[in-house]
Amino acid sequence: MMLEELLQQLQAISSDAVASLNAADSDAAIEAVKNRTLGRSGAITALSPQMGQLPKEDKRAAGLAFNEAKTAIQKALNDAKAKLAASEAASAPAVDVTLPGRAWPIGRKHPISQTIDECCDIFRRMGFIAVSGPELETVWYNFDALNAPLNHPSRDPQDTFYLPDGRLLRTQTSPVQIRTMLGNKPPVRIVSPGRCYRRDTPDATHGVHFHQLEGLYIDKNVSMADLRSTILKFATEFFGPDVRIRMRPSFFPFTEPSVECDFSCVCCGGKGCRVCKNSGWLEIMGAGMVNPAVLRNAGYDPEELQGFAFGFGLERLTMLKHRINDLRIFSDNDLRFLKQF
Ligand SMILES: [Zn+2]
Repeated sequence: MMLEELLQQLQAISSDAVASLNAADSDAAIEAVKNRTLGRSGAITALSPQMGQLPKEDKRAAGLAFNEAKTAIQKALNDAKAKLAASEAASAPAVDVTLPGRAWPIGRKHPISQTIDECCDIFRRMGFIAVSGPELETVWYNFDALNAPLNHPSRDPQDTFYLPDGRLLRTQTSPVQIRTMLGNKPPVRIVSPGRCYRRDTPDATHGVHFHQLEGLYIDKNVSMADLRSTILKFATEFFGPDVRIRMRPSFFPFTEPSVECDFSCVCCGGKGCRVCKNSGWLEIMGAGMVNPAVLRNAGYDPEELQGFAFGFGLERLTMLKHRINDLRIFSDNDLRFLKQF
């Protein structure tokens, strides 16, 4: 091969490589050009033995031409890599550090849980402690120990969820009172909030599960006056200082005497409205002096100790406080509703 021919071939390889590298749009394309020119079996490498065949006076010029071609291809390789890196950086999503951060929604307490907390706080300030008990109960704790007669309608499987083994989903939070009395020496001063279950067709004011809060106070010389002052204190703390209460005779197996306790209507102040059916009063809770038979069931001596108990529904209290007219909304888990509390 003559010098002239060698120089032409080197020139052709070099300009073809540079043109390919200028157009390369990927690492693979750049690497391919490198392999087919400067690689171990590349075109430039394949030409170098030809240099040995040249006459002595042509060798210097040939050596310079080889170096020139290699340098030109190497520079084009570096430029192509730099261009590719720059275009990848430009197409990546830009980070604007001045944008406000993403807002993460913060969870909040369910309105029923808020009512439980508020009630427990009020009673705690009066010396009551909050206790809880199992939702799966035995018939003895849920009915027998609470003096419920054997023919009491609430024992009927149509009203209560029974398990195949005879246990039941508690229909009230009162079993906690029995458990507490059995496990503690008097005086006892507790409130027990929690979930209860009854077979009911769900409507605006009934659900198959609901929440109750029950209170129990056992000590020496406890009277109806203590019950009244405790409930009045609770009513005014929860609904405001203008709330009045009244008691009407009633009957519950658990208490004797028993009363139904009404609060003056929190919507109309007692003047009469749709919520209180124009009576000015709202039925809120059942209460009374603990039946001596219940005290005996719990191992207490009714000659020595007396006590009062009361219980009310937490859904109703929450509905009255926030003017909600359908309790089904409490279990819908609709964030548009829950976010308002
Ligand atoms: Zn009213």
